[in-house]
Order: sequence, then structure tokens, then C-alpha cells
Amino acid sequence: MLYSAIAETFERIEATTKRLEMTDYLVELLRKTPPELMDKVIYLTQGKIYPDYMGVELGIAEKLLLKSLYKATGIPESEIEELYMRHGDVGIVAENVIARKKQMSLFSEELTVERVYSTFEEIARKEGKGAQDFKMKLLANLFHDSKPVEARYLARMAVARLRLGIADMTILDALAISFGEKSDRDKVERAYNICSDLGLVARTLAQKGIDGLKEIKIRVGIPIRAMLAERLRTLEEILEKMGGKAAFEYKYDGIRIQAHISEDVRLFSRHLENLTEQFPEITSALRRAFMGEDAIVEGECVPIDPSTGEMLPFQVVSHRRGRKYGVEEAMEEFPVLLFLFDALYLNGEDLTVRPYLERRKALKDSFTETERIRISTILITDSTEEAERFFNQAIDAGCEGIMAKSIAEDSVYRAGARGFTWIKYKKDYKSEMTDTVDLVPVGAFMGRGRRAGKYGALLMAAYNPDRDMFETVCKLGSGFTDEDLDKLPEIFKRYLTEERHPRVDSKMEPDVWFVPNFVLEVLGAEITLSPNHTCAYGQIKKDAGLAIRFPRFTGNWRDDRGPEDATTSQEMLHMYEMQRKVE
Ligand code: AMP
Repeated sequence: MLYSAIAETFERIEATTKRLEMTDYLVELLRKTPPELMDKVIYLTQGKIYPDYMGVELGIAEKLLLKSLYKATGIPESEIEELYMRHGDVGIVAENVIARKKQMSLFSEELTVERVYSTFEEIARKEGKGAQDFKMKLLANLFHDSKPVEARYLARMAVARLRLGIADMTILDALAISFGEKSDRDKVERAYNICSDLGLVARTLAQKGIDGLKEIKIRVGIPIRAMLAERLRTLEEILEKMGGKAAFEYKYDGIRIQAHISEDVRLFSRHLENLTEQFPEITSALRRAFMGEDAIVEGECVPIDPSTGEMLPFQVVSHRRGRKYGVEEAMEEFPVLLFLFDALYLNGEDLTVRPYLERRKALKDSFTETERIRISTILITDSTEEAERFFNQAIDAGCEGIMAKSIAEDSVYRAGARGFTWIKYKKDYKSEMTDTVDLVPVGAFMGRGRRAGKYGALLMAAYNPDRDMFETVCKLGSGFTDEDLDKLPEIFKRYLTEERHPRVDSKMEPDVWFVPNFVLEVLGAEITLSPNHTCAYGQIKKDAGLAIRFPRFTGNWRDDRGPEDATTSQEMLHMYEMQRKVE
């Protein structure tokens, strides 16, 4: 098959913005494509050579591409670079340059799809010494034999910027039309959602027809497209949508991970990138926590403070992504936990077709919770009040909100789909705490890991002058230098008390208690409601006090202040209300 058939189709697709027209052009192309080339034509249309999850990237540097054009045509590099400066699109430059060359020479061999594809495969595979030069020559050979319009798409493909504007959904439409009836669209999409490979779906259709799609099954090691959630604004609406009763889970704020466990373990992101190398501790922990043959499970990977075990803001986990080097160091510096929330496949059985509660049970039965692998916190209820309390508890624990999940018979795992089977409930505002507060340490929790034997976090309180009590607002573990931490037990030695000080109001039980004495300056992300803290308890909501989310010590010991000069509970309340007003 000639590559010109593809290039000409691309040209037509590029010239329209109408999805239906794009689909028609694609259908025409697919009808001309021999079955054994079907997958390759699809990948080329996506600007790829393999499905995303294989993690093979073309992405040749533009400089190298311009060089290959020089090599193919003999047109001086300076001229080519100038053209690039003018157009900023390697495709246009390549088309121009090749058009000029064609006026000079007469003979070249026509490009076939097979040759283009296998050349790109070779380019992607080549690594190490001399690779750049080798890639440049391969490209130059392609350009040498290409027509101007072919050169346009070859160049864009090489720098991984084909961008035809064709979405996966349009390709699925075209496949359904080419190989089946309109009503087969769902089957085609389902096959894609469980194998994440449009090329495979296309070739199967071309060789075996719609019925052949049944052969595409979930396989451990091949990522499944993620199920997504809808959003509603109130818990009333959510419960109503779910038929009056639902399961609620903590909505952890981190990176979604789909783990494929057999003899080895592979991790994929929500966008199907392979993350296996980046989270070695999760990989080994999963293997240990799992008690079966093989499985595909999903969870959220969340950063934690190793000394307190508390969750940290999700940005912290991004330090763990995209690393080629320094994985070990990053593992130490930014430790993570995985909270599992779904099981899609277990011991040879496809669980995606089973209702949620069955999948949840399978998850619980086949994993033991460990230091690093947990199962998401869940509450099944028909009460909005209970759900509201659960939400506050989740926020307080460092989560982003809660996720409601249907417990109906039809609550199957809908791969690749966004729907109301899962509904997220988050705060619909971004609030920031801009001011620091001055808080009083009233107790401490012993540290773990690197902080074993020292204090891991201090229990901090605001002052309530009406009651003359210190009311807790947060556990403070961040912002201390190692030096500070070493010194803390010594500093607090004189203020240790056997029991909770009578002027301290706390629902938490720290490992040691202090007489209120010092004042530390603290900055947090925002003020939230919490069932665990006593500051202004019951003033906003019956069963909740105020808490500071993600608190951090600024480094400032307020030696100029006595504990009664600390930020008051009333001030905290005021700050909370101001925050709500801004919303
Ligand atoms: P959003 O990204 O805001 O659309 O929310 C959906 C995301 O929440 C999912 O893709 C997961 O990464 C994440 N998530 C956190 N906790 C859960 C949970 N318990 N169940 C499902 N998804 C969760």
C-alpha cells in the first residue's frame, strides 16, 4: 500500500473541522487498507507506532529533523533553518524543501506504508552511541523518496506532533462504520476500553469482523482504560441519583495507579503511561500484600509524611514522576502509600462485569493491608448527615473529598467511561490561608522512620479566652529542620505532664502532654471542619471543630508571646467565615 494514500487522506482531514467529514475520509482510507496493514494505518493516523501504554516515543529533536532535510536535498541548512524560523512548523518546512528538490531530480522510489512504518520503528528503537546520526540518515532516506505532501506528515510524525485533530472516538466511529453496523459502535468501544489499543481493535475487525472482537479480553499487563466520575454539588443530589443509598469512599488526592500483578507487577497511570520503574516500593509491596495468582487493581498513590504517617498535598507525589535517575533518593525523600479502591480482574476472572460491592469484596479478600498498601476507607449510608460527617473526616485526613459509588446491581466497572455510577463530591471552592497563625503546642506524637525516638508531630492549639482553654486545631509535623527536631524533646522537657493539662481540650491522645507554654508561628493551606479537633467545636457544625489543613511551621518561635497571646478560637472562626465569603 502506498503511503501517499495516507498522506492524501490526512490532507483532507486537516482541511476540515467537521467530525462527520473526518470520519468519512477515514472510512474511505480504511476500505483501501489491506487487513494485515490495518493496525499500522491506525497507528500512523494517531501519529504513533504503538499503543501509548508501550511507552515508545518518537520525539526526534527538531534540529536533527532539519539536518535530515539538508541531507536529503542538499539545500543549505541555513536556508532550511530560516524557513523554520518563519513557519515554526516542521511539516510546512519539509513540504517546501521537498517541493524545491523535486524540481531538480526526477527519480525516486515511491514510499510504501510498510517502509514508512518500519523506518519509524527503527528510529524509535535505536539508542546509544551513534543513534542520532543513524536516525538522521533514516529520515533523510524517507524524505529523499517522498512527495511534498508526504514530507509534511513524515516530518510532523517524526517530532511527535502530527495533531490531525482526530480523536479516538472518531476513529472508533470510522471502525464501526467500516466493519459493522452503526449499532456495533458499543462493541467496538468496549473492545478498545479493555485493551487500550486501537490498532489491535482495527486489525481484529479487519481480519475477523465484529464477532472477532470477542477474542479481545482483559489481560494482565495490558492497561484497561480508566472509569471516570461525574460530579454533583450536593450530597442530597448524589444520594437521590444513587437511588437513596450509596457507598462513599475517601477521595484520596494523588496519582491514580492501575496495578497489574502476576509474577511481576506493572503500574500504569490514568493516561496509561507505564510507571513501574518510578514506584519500586509500591511494586514490591503489592506483590507481598496480594494473596492470589494474578490481578488488576486500582488505587490512588498518595504522598505521606513518614514521621507522622499523615497525608501530604498531592503536589509532593509529582516529584516521583518522570524520573530516569535518582529513583532511590526520591523514594526516601517522598514516600508514598497506595490506597486500593477497585479490583478489575482476579485469578483469571474478569470482574469489570460485576457490581461494585462484589468487586470491593474481592479486593478485601485478596489483599492484606500493609504499611504501604491500604484499602480505601468506606461508608455505606442513606443519610446525608452521615455522609457529610464522613466528608469532613476525609478532608481532615488530607483527602480531597469523597467519592460516591453506586451499589446497584448494574454498578459494573465502565472502562473508559464517565458516568453517574461514580460521583465525586469535593469542595467547590479553592480557599487559601494567607495569614499565619500563632499556636500553642499542647502535646506531641512520637516519630517514625527517620524521626524514631524523637517527636514526629506536635499537637497544636488555639486559645479560647471565653473558656480559658486551649483548643486543638492540627498536628504539626512539617517545616522543622533536622536540628529543630533534635532539640524539641530537650526544649519541652520542663513542660511535660503526665496527663492532659486541665486547660487543654482535646479529642486526640498524643504520646506526651505539655503544659501550654510556647507559641509557634504556623501557615496552613486552609481552615476546614474536623470531627477530631476542638477549636470552636460545634459553632459551625454540630459534630465538628475547626482544623488547619497541611500546617507548616514557619520557623518562627514567637518568644515575644505567652500562650494566652496565641491566635484565639474566635479569630479562627472569623478566618473560616472570611474564607467562606470569598467562596
Ligand atoms: P477527578 O480527577 O477529580 O475527576 O476525580 C477522579 C479521580 O479521583 C480518579 O481518577 C482517582 O484518581 C481519584 N480517586 C481518589 N480516591 C478514589 C476512590 N476512592 N475511588 C475512585 N477514585 C478515586
